[in-house]
Amino acid sequence: MEIVCRPQPGWPGHRAGQFLFADFGRTGEGAHPFTIASDWNAKDGTLTLAIKALGDFTNQLVPA
Ligand SMILES: Cc1cc2nc3c(=O)[nH]c(=O)nc-3n(C[C@H](O)[C@H](O)[C@H](O)COP(=O)(O)OP(=O)(O)OC[C@H]3O[C@@H](n4cnc5c(N)ncnc54)[C@H](O)[C@@H]3O)c2cc1C
Repeated sequence: MEIVCRPQPGWPGHRAGQFLFADFGRTGEGAHPFTIASDWNAKDGTLTLAIKALGDFTNQLVPA
């Protein structure tokens, strides 16, 4: 699946290929690493993650 995120103001920018840790609000599981799949465009202000459902955490990200 593709998740488009809008970082909080103050995000320093990024390059495609860098990775971040995200828990998507599921703090019990802990954050997982995901590669940023889009280059930074300050006007657009979004970043894209491409995530494959491989296990318990990523399977729960797919909307019912
Ligand atoms: C630097 C980095 C960037 C990544 N970028 C992406 C991405 O862009 N898209 C994406 O779909 N996945 C990416 N992954 C892998 C992603 O973090 C795992 O798919 C996710 O943590 C699986 O969690 P789960 O609980 O759903 O599956 P689990 O049941 O925990 O595991 C399923 C599979 O993922 C592997 N895995 C679990 N945790 C990790 C981990 N911390 N690092 C590496 N492999 C792991 C397991 O060995 C197993 O093969 C990246 C991993 C790293 C280290």
